[in-house]
Amino acid sequence: MFDALLLEKTEAGFQAGVRSLDESRLPDGDVLLKVEHSTINYKDALAITNAGPVVRAWPMVAGIDGAGTVLESSHPAWKAGDRVIHNGWGVGETRWGCLAQKARLVGDGLVRLPEAFNTRQAMAIGTAGYTAMLCVLALERHGITPGSGDVLVTGATGGVGSVATALLSRRGYAVTGSTGKAREADYLKRLGARQVIDRAELSTPGKPLQKERWAAVVDAVGSQTLVNALAQTRYGGVVAACGLAGGADLPGTVMPFILRGVTLAGVDSVMAPIAVRRTAWERLARDLDPRSLELMTEEVALDGAIDRAEALMAGRVRGRIVIKVGG
Ligand code: NDP
Repeated sequence: MFDALLLEKTEAGFQAGVRSLDESRLPDGDVLLKVEHSTINYKDALAITNAGPVVRAWPMVAGIDGAGTVLESSHPAWKAGDRVIHNGWGVGETRWGCLAQKARLVGDGLVRLPEAFNTRQAMAIGTAGYTAMLCVLALERHGITPGSGDVLVTGATGGVGSVATALLSRRGYAVTGSTGKAREADYLKRLGARQVIDRAELSTPGKPLQKERWAAVVDAVGSQTLVNALAQTRYGGVVAACGLAGGADLPGTVMPFILRGVTLAGVDSVMAPIAVRRTAWERLARDLDPRSLELMTEEVALDGAIDRAEALMAGRVRGRIVIKVGG
């Protein structure tokens, strides 16, 4: 038996709770993982609070991310005792997830835990942090360097935003964090942000082309915020779009693309190829200051996951939440 955060839809409606489950109920897969730590990402919070259509098979064990030790493996790359990370691939959506003491996973999708991290740190990063790294890689791929100019990070106190702020600042970028939490300006400066702006500056409709401010943008918010960020991006700049915390729409014009040569780079973590994941985790191991990671991380036990998911949905979370699920 193992404990797991089970999401169910019954005649009584939606229910979420920690349940003791029999190992025989785990799905097929070539790696059995003893999960030590998991996390609450935005998508996990949507699933756990039933606020969005994340779960597509019921009942579902929540948790898109997990880190722990391989217990059994029939996959050639992995053996018992290996320390690994799992991110995404539809786990916690269509296949039982990692907010559980055990998970059966597909070995092809796992990444070896970098030596720089323990499983707690890997989950303090989680999909949010690995996506922030994918955004940084996208900016670099399009030629952005610290000398290019100021970089805007939206949703800055969130998971993606906090890690993006820390990563970019440490590499020497002048980061401006946009946030709705004015009280957290000091937090963002401790992560390295040079400037903090009120997210209200970006959330109302503006002109199709505005004053050129940003060489690059990491956007976790979408909607009007992304439109304004594009309209304020300098000639030849790059905007990495990964999120929809403010909305999934894009109510803008093509003007930034056709008159300023701005590039809109889409970033997906869920189905990113394994080679890209390995690169992202190697770079995280090199580029992320463990002290910044600690500053943005809060840890709770599995039975605290629902409360934290509700807090995240209500905008009451700063940074990242680690869930300790096993020893
Ligand atoms: P968090 O909830 O941790 O952070 C989101 C942040 O966005 C909040 O902290 C808040 O920051 C800001 N925000 C929230 N609501 C609004 C709003 N209505 N308008 C403007 N800003 C808002 O989530 P994550 O960082 O984990 O994820 C951020 C987004 O990225 C989500 O949409 C998520 O689905 C997406 N994502 C996408 C991935 C991909 O593969 N493309 C992978 C991971 C995440 P503040 O208070 O500082 O303004």
